[in-house]
Amino acid sequence: MDDIDLAAERIDMLNAAAIQAVLGKVETVPSSGICRACNEPIEPDRLKANPYAKHCHDCADELEALAKMARRRGPG
Ligand SMILES: [Zn+2]
Repeated sequence: MDDIDLAAERIDMLNAAAIQAVLGKVETVPSSGICRACNEPIEPDRLKANPYAKHCHDCADELEALAKMARRRGPG
């Protein structure tokens, strides 16, 4: 019986991991080629390197800097 309980627990964990993967997934739809922040076309080289890029080089840099600051400050 214990084995079955452990197996069920493991399946729950795997399901949780799958849900997390879905929630945290980066992007599955290829980029439109237009920056979502400034509406300028994303550099073709950038799209070639990452077909899912949603922001142009400048905006991505800016967003990354903001994300870093937010992470450093932490929640709250
Ligand atoms: Zn941009």
